[in-house]
Amino acid sequence: MKPSEMSAGLINRRSEIMSDNSDTPEDNPEASISSRIRARVKSARQRFHANDNISEFIEPGELEALVDEVTSKMKGVLESLVIDVDSDHNTQDTARRVAKMYLTEVFRGRYVPAPPVTEFPNAEYLNELMIVGPIKVRSACSHHFCPIMGRLWIGLMPNEHSNLIGLSKYARLAEWVMSRPQIQEEAITQMSDLLMKKVAPDGLAVVMEADHFCMHWRGVKDTGAKMINSVMRGSFLKDAALRREFLSLINLKD
Ligand SMILES: [Zn+2]
Repeated sequence: MKPSEMSAGLINRRSEIMSDNSDTPEDNPEASISSRIRARVKSARQRFHANDNISEFIEPGELEALVDEVTSKMKGVLESLVIDVDSDHNTQDTARRVAKMYLTEVFRGRYVPAPPVTEFPNAEYLNELMIVGPIKVRSACSHHFCPIMGRLWIGLMPNEHSNLIGLSKYARLAEWVMSRPQIQEEAITQMSDLLMKKVAPDGLAVVMEADHFCMHWRGVKDTGAKMINSVMRGSFLKDAALRREFLSLINLKD
């Protein structure tokens, strides 16, 4: 490239920054890794709410770089909390521990693609109610980043065109959706959409019962309250007897 072309390229890039003042373009090596990823998501006009998966915008090696970036920001939070991170042996590595925990464990479902799930054709034409659960739910609320611990049940009414997936895969898919900052109502809707797409059943029911630690640890400090949500689709919506059968079989009182 001739020097004159290079400077023209630079000017163009700068005018891009000026016209889109929300973010630095993704190819700017000066930009933080999060702002480069954010710029890609925005230019694809995708949503990046707390419970959205953004894995398709993250390139190899960038997750590790994000851990470094969050570590330094988290260290700033600890410093603003007036915690002596230099002398206090307990909190010296807390910033990195929290960054790793967020990105590679508890919020991992935002940053990695869906787990591989093999779908089998419904060769036996199964068309009886099938229930999977309880599946352990571990999540955190988007409002306070406090844990949400609970249980999830899935009811499926397959038809001859449905796909069947291995039992353990339901738990893997649930873990992928739940390991993001979540809102219980939205979490079960995301779970239902995913299962409708993968299994294509006649009917689908998803019930989640959970403890929200932002109600125990802070706020009203209520220890007994649980939140129960359900999503019913297809035959579960139309058929009250099927819905009753599902709800009596999962027997939430346990
Ligand atoms: Zn909360």
